[in-house]
Amino acid sequence: MSKLFIVSTPIGNLGDITLRSIEVLKSADLILAEDTRTSLKLLKHYNIETAIESFHMHNEHKKLESIINRLKDNIEIALISDAGTPGISDPGFLLVRECIKHEVDVESLPGPTAFVPALVCSGLPSDRFSFEGFLPVKKGRTKRLKELSNEKKTMIFYESPHRILKTLTDFSNYFNDESLISVSRELTKLFEETFRGTIKESIEHFEKNKPKGEFVIVLSPK
Ligand code: SAM
Repeated sequence: MSKLFIVSTPIGNLGDITLRSIEVLKSADLILAEDTRTSLKLLKHYNIETAIESFHMHNEHKKLESIINRLKDNIEIALISDAGTPGISDPGFLLVRECIKHEVDVESLPGPTAFVPALVCSGLPSDRFSFEGFLPVKKGRTKRLKELSNEKKTMIFYESPHRILKTLTDFSNYFNDESLISVSRELTKLFEETFRGTIKESIEHFEKNKPKGEFVIVLSPK
């Protein structure tokens, strides 16, 4: 039977992949990957020789029809992204929606994603939270920050090293700058680090220590 598998891949440490994910990647007829060159390193590491094709934010709309047609032909396709879980700030949603529309089975294998370890080790309430992904860079940014200033749940953001200080400074304007925040970088990697303190202290910290790597910000509610 045809099936689309959503397979999460490591966010740094290559050991963070499940046994079932490796099995599915080996037995699939085709792997769709955001950047084939990036994913080939992982696939090589685990001796996975399945055919691979690109599927990213610039071609996903164009490729939907051909993927669905192939899925109707009794094949199994595995979707992966550069890191973590497809569909979480990465392509995936459109293809899953299209599969459901065409009654193609979809199975998502549990696996790595950056926001869960960041939330869990933040020390901030994890019973209810709002995953915000990347804030809009320009259009819609102010509106989103205003909306979030009344949020009652712990908030989680993804951010790049060159925008982290700007985002923390925006937080100090839209939230109380004594609000608690946790900023994790390079999760599962050699230089993994989590800064915990107030928004104000986090700005001082990253003004002194040049931000490097990939970041997840966890912010306490109002
Ligand atoms: N699909 C991924 C997931 O499931 O987490 C997210 C992909 S998104 C394009 C990339 C962002 O995820 C980075 O800018 C960063 O905010 C976060 N991220 C990914 N890997 C990370 C890591 N090892 N440490 C901290 N943040 C990470």
